[in-house]
Amino acid sequence: MSDYIIYGYCPTGEAALQECLNRNWNVVCYCDDREIKRDHYETGVPILSLKEIRKSNIKGTFIIAIANCGQIINKLDNSEEYILAAEILDGPRPDINYATKKKDMANIEVDAFIAEQNAYLHPERLFLRNVDLEITERCSMRCRDCSNLMQYYEHPKNFAPADLIHWMTVFSSYFDEIFEVRLIGGEPFMHTQVQEILSELIKLENIRQITFYTNATIVPKDSLLDVMTSPKVGACITDYGDLSRNIHKMIQAFDERHIIYDVHEAGMWAKCSDIRKRNRASEDIEQTFINCCAKNLYTILDGKFFRCPFMANAMNLQAMPYIEDDYIDICSLGDDREKARLILKDFLKRSYWASCDYCSGRLFDGEEIPAAIQIAAPLPYEKV
Ligand code: SF4
Ligand code: SF4
Repeated sequence: MSDYIIYGYCPTGEAALQECLNRNWNVVCYCDDREIKRDHYETGVPILSLKEIRKSNIKGTFIIAIANCGQIINKLDNSEEYILAAEILDGPRPDINYATKKKDMANIEVDAFIAEQNAYLHPERLFLRNVDLEITERCSMRCRDCSNLMQYYEHPKNFAPADLIHWMTVFSSYFDEIFEVRLIGGEPFMHTQVQEILSELIKLENIRQITFYTNATIVPKDSLLDVMTSPKVGACITDYGDLSRNIHKMIQAFDERHIIYDVHEAGMWAKCSDIRKRNRASEDIEQTFINCCAKNLYTILDGKFFRCPFMANAMNLQAMPYIEDDYIDICSLGDDREKARLILKDFLKRSYWASCDYCSGRLFDGEEIPAAIQIAAPLPYEKV
């Protein structure tokens, strides 16, 4: 019997473990380099770093359970064999009570990881793991250090449902699959026509999931909650303590209707909302992007597709110039689907973004600042 090492202690890793047990495959350990995971042994399988595995001379075929599998493949030596979790989790999935995440959210994460690995296996497909759709500039809180730059909006507005639906219909038509559209603001439940927006978005077939990112200040009304019972819809609640004044009511409403949700405590904030040109050398601008933990938070704002919410909102606020190469005007992509797909593929692959020179960047392990410090009025800034 061969031995296996599951790369990634996460819901996909747990699903892979269960599948291995079903196949009578021997799993020696998980491999996970994140410090935070060291003490978690709920599944009875030890968790070791890649360094520890190599040092202990543990041998086995790696089952890569990380979404960004290309990065892990590059880490492995030529002598280290691997398969992707997507290759063994392509059939009906066993019913698992996950140790690493709430069950319904864990199942969505496994679906997302498998979809991303399948996109790696089939590069001819145009796949997007997630895109933030900013439906409103309004927020019910005013956080001094909001990384989406809401603290600068003096006259924030909602976007018209018809425009939002048109942009998403056109945009999604170029893709084979968009796994998740994340409805953001500001606070998405500030938008008075959010039910209309959601009802139409649900109909777009190549969008698999729609997730609200909410600060738990506004409980959706009953008719909206009814639409949210769709298995396609979920919510990611950030818990800001007392500021999330309706979190218990929101959770109760979601529980009563079996709406999928997850709760995260606010934390790990970095100082990254100072918009000004730094005049870095081009290699440093590229490095700022490469080291940035927000670089894959693709964002649609006012009909334009951006690499991240900082670029989207800094340009929307006119706190920096619109840099033409750094966004795509969705409605200008046109009827030639193949041509549009090539433009989008190039956009997704790029690693140089002149806009990053207006941003401090967000390091994965940067200095943490207190979350959600409230201010009384919008912050002043200079328009270009
Ligand atoms: S709650 Fe705070 S961090 Fe979240 S969008 Fe509103 S202002 Fe930004
Ligand atoms: S460094 Fe670039 S990718 Fe990262 S948040 Fe700033 S502008 Fe966006």
